[in-house]
Amino acid sequence: MIIDLRSDTVTKPSKEMLKTMMNAEVGDDVFREDTTLNKLEKMVAEMFGKEAALFFPSGTMANQTAIKLQTQPGDQVICDKYAHIYNYESGGVSFNSGVSCNLIDGQRGMFTANQVEKAINPDAYYYSKTSLVEVENTTNKGGGACWDFDEILKLRKVCNKNNLSFHLDGARLWNALVAKNETTEQYGKVFDTISVCFSKGLGCPVGSVLVGNHKIMDEAIRIRKIFGGNMRQAGYLAAAAIYTLDHNIDRLSEDHRKAKEIESVLNKLSIVKHVQPVETNIIIFELNPDVNEQQFIEKLRANNILIIGMGGGKLRMVTHLDYTDTMHKKLLNFIKTI
Ligand SMILES: *Cc1c(COP(=O)(O)O)cnc(C)c1O
Repeated sequence: MIIDLRSDTVTKPSKEMLKTMMNAEVGDDVFREDTTLNKLEKMVAEMFGKEAALFFPSGTMANQTAIKLQTQPGDQVICDKYAHIYNYESGGVSFNSGVSCNLIDGQRGMFTANQVEKAINPDAYYYSKTSLVEVENTTNKGGGACWDFDEILKLRKVCNKNNLSFHLDGARLWNALVAKNETTEQYGKVFDTISVCFSKGLGCPVGSVLVGNHKIMDEAIRIRKIFGGNMRQAGYLAAAAIYTLDHNIDRLSEDHRKAKEIESVLNKLSIVKHVQPVETNIIIFELNPDVNEQQFIEKLRANNILIIGMGGGKLRMVTHLDYTDTMHKKLLNFIKTI
């Protein structure tokens, strides 16, 4: 038994999910004839109260499309220094959209409306034009932290006042909704575009969706094509997403409970210097300076427990759909003995 806590993307489709996929009714999506895919897009658009939704092969492509749709080359995007779009999308913002990022020095990947106001460039020709504010919820590099929705409402006001677009990287928005008891509708009302992933905590093999209103989204399919993201019988993948929306959202609270239990055991260990307060399914912690990080990872690996280093002395564990109760018991017992 391998206990793989490196990421919530290591899950494999369940038998039931695979069965639903196998039975999906499909068609050629380039002709927009894939009925299952069309059903998913309609479903997600309605969940967020938006007019349109488009399926993508990755969260990266959905985010990159949102940025391309809402900027011009030379513009600037305001985001946190921890943002996935800045750190983990291979420099795509500059490659695909020709924009730069104005990075905010936030807390665990989150920032304030005040900080954004200060980061907006003055309206002078020699400055880069600020055109988009990007927020991530939950924050990945910030250890699964959730935004305070009141701050998001304040950000919307700043965007309105300064004529800026507002994008949410909601790869793990599902976790935030469950943890904070929030709704898709409330997010749909505030953001211009939202990307969500089905391949993180929800256990799908592939898939993300970008939602927004027609005015922005009408060009999204062309951008997706330019990025090479057009697909054919993608309904097999959409079927997995529909299945997971129906079955796997509420249970995320179980991942959150397990993550909190791991946090509390780690907090009692003498070799652990600090554990970031756990809010969802990500646990980020640091070891005391006299403990060798690599040796610690190797020791766990020797006992069939996989975790990863995030750099800068930070280690990460992520709970997920395939992390069972049995694995959880075994893990807690093992780390108690370290
Ligand atoms: C995983 C992730 C994405 C998308 O990643 P893909 O691997 O391209 O699907 C985007 N944003 C955040 C915060 C993520 O964690």
